[in-house]
Amino acid sequence: MGKSALDTTLRYFKAASRVMDLGDRIEKFLTTPRREISVEVTVEMDDGRLETFVGFRVQHNNARGPMKGGIRYHHLVDLDEVRSLASLMTWKTSVVDLPFGGAKGGISCRAETLSEREQERITRKFVDGIHDVIGPYKDVPAPDMNTGPQTMAWVMDQYSKYHGFSPAVVTGKPVDLHGSLGRDAATGRGVMFATEEVLKAYGKGKTLPTSTFAIQGFGNVGSWAARLIHEAGGKICAVTDVKGGTRNAKGLNIPDVVAWMRRTGSVDGYPEGEPCSNDELLASKVDVLIPAALDGVLHKGNAKDVRAKFVVEGANGPTTWEADEILGKKGVVVVPDIYANAGGVTVSYFEWVQNLQVDTWEEEVVNRRLHGRMVSSFDKIRSVADSRKIPLRTAAFVVAIGRVAGAASKLGIS
Ligand code: NAD
Repeated sequence: MGKSALDTTLRYFKAASRVMDLGDRIEKFLTTPRREISVEVTVEMDDGRLETFVGFRVQHNNARGPMKGGIRYHHLVDLDEVRSLASLMTWKTSVVDLPFGGAKGGISCRAETLSEREQERITRKFVDGIHDVIGPYKDVPAPDMNTGPQTMAWVMDQYSKYHGFSPAVVTGKPVDLHGSLGRDAATGRGVMFATEEVLKAYGKGKTLPTSTFAIQGFGNVGSWAARLIHEAGGKICAVTDVKGGTRNAKGLNIPDVVAWMRRTGSVDGYPEGEPCSNDELLASKVDVLIPAALDGVLHKGNAKDVRAKFVVEGANGPTTWEADEILGKKGVVVVPDIYANAGGVTVSYFEWVQNLQVDTWEEEVVNRRLHGRMVSSFDKIRSVADSRKIPLRTAAFVVAIGRVAGAASKLGIS
């Protein structure tokens, strides 16, 4: 996440705060993290050297419940980035009305150079440093960039050594180690539900099966969104990843593209389509554009080229604030990330509930409950947007900030 993405989050917060007439005092309270921790993580590497990494956990706000947010392993991780991502989690959990606050963590390291044993040692040592400030009712980590179910299994195990068996301390665990069915597809599924709702509201009769789509990014979020929209009858005309892309105006056969990607490592070169660059994809003449790769891909230099009527933000922060203004003036409806990609954290919440209840839900139950939450959250955002005549993004922040401010003031701020 670059500096511009951090500015963007703050600007969106401020736009909502102005609409709400929040005032400086509460604004300061809501933008200041509750606690920030840095821990030294010294481990023995496979070659016998000792190496020290720095791990961070920022706990932004817990007015609505235990804090929730991922742990990422990346060489660009620093306190500023983690701080901004932690606040974003407060708004994301609030906008879909989960009983959570927001947090984020990370370790500054070159994850791609670490062996699995080294990753395990680093993870366990990090948990040694933060175990007394996380917990099922305090702060519940999850996977993020370069961390996954295996990392979460180590977090659970290490935490449990201090506090006894505690699967609910972390979500995104392997399904055979207290993880939830449906978590893998959850963010992409949520993106599909969000798309369905925005079409219903503003699509003038368009539905998934009568719409065309372009999707940037074919990883967890993009490929699941593509598969599920395709299954629902939507016509996906272009997909790209870091290596290139493919397009076909008649619609791509997505299961076939998935098989091609598994074989070759990329969607690029798919034989039933023409080559498509990322710039071309973002300017595709489709009904719905889904950026599901990185932040900042829609910026002031290319927003004017967007020809889609809807942008559904699968990625975190894909639209800079300058691009957001340009898209707004062009009449493009943008479905904001804090809502559109909240399917993942919603099913993380379901995992936490299952763990606390020592229960396992069928996948169909998980998906049905996710659907209900995405629909009711959209209805709330839309009613605020329509009644106040503001964009969906500002409305989503108004809903999220309003819930956190309401809880905080009832608890007593000072
Ligand atoms: P991923 O690593 O599984 O996939 C990322 C995809 O983006 C890959 O297809 C990659 O090739 C592509 N990509 C990378 N660099 C690119 C570039 N320069 N141009 C075009 N494509 C590029 O990641 P993911 O989990 O799918 O996450 C994607 C986005 O969604 C991120 O912004 C992430 O923060 C956000 N997100 C993910 C989840 C989740 O549950 N996985 C939840 C909420 C938000």
